[in-house]
Amino acid sequence: MRAVRCVDGRATVVELAAPAGEGVRIKTASAGVCGSDLHMLDLGMLGPYTIGHEFAGWLEDGRPVAVEPLHGCGDCGLCRTGDYNRCPANLADIAGISRDGGMADEVLMWPEAVVPLPTGVDVRDACLVEPIAIAVHGFRMIGLRGDMRVAVIGGGTIGQTALAVARLTGGETAVSARHDAQNEAAARLGAAPLTDEPYDVVVDAAGTSSALADAAARCRPGGTMLLLGTYWAGMELPAMDVRVKEIR
Ligand SMILES: [Zn+2]
Ligand SMILES: [Zn+2]
Repeated sequence: MRAVRCVDGRATVVELAAPAGEGVRIKTASAGVCGSDLHMLDLGMLGPYTIGHEFAGWLEDGRPVAVEPLHGCGDCGLCRTGDYNRCPANLADIAGISRDGGMADEVLMWPEAVVPLPTGVDVRDACLVEPIAIAVHGFRMIGLRGDMRVAVIGGGTIGQTALAVARLTGGETAVSARHDAQNEAAARLGAAPLTDEPYDVVVDAAGTSSALADAAARCRPGGTMLLLGTYWAGMELPAMDVRVKEIR
């Protein structure tokens, strides 16, 4: 079967034997390229595993499923209270990073990773379930309501899925994106024009110090910043805005 792995620092399609052993067999239908995949390629952080932690496919009986790429140890206090995404054991066992992921014709996953898709969700779109879940989780953490104005900094997958999820509350949501294609996608998802009026919630979906500074500048006093990006190059805190505006 085909699989995408890091060979000499580059994402490369290689031929492998189909996976054997324990687990639920999933035939991949779709896989997303995460910004983190590109950073990990650049930083030489990817091991001898198949790349891809955003993916969906079919079980052997043909049922379409999305895949949750991590699971906790199942045993610690965090796992027992349902916060298994925070389990320290996760880093050693994430599909596409520290074990084989979804950019292959087939992959074996633990049974709890399988999330059956409801009728009407195309399995070819369902590689977006993982980034959408990140946005849903983040907005739940900050208690997003429909009367809050939201700005999203960054127009990649995380930015677009944050926009789509925020729009479900019915509130005004704007996106600051760099590229025309990203702005067009945001417009199709119902983005409002970005204004200079301070926002109740500003999402950093880019994961850079300049995006964070922009987020802090656009946040109203007493507002909230939601950091959904990953700061691969570290982070410079826009300390004065955060301090003076009492941004949470
Ligand atoms: Zn990712
Ligand atoms: Zn645990």
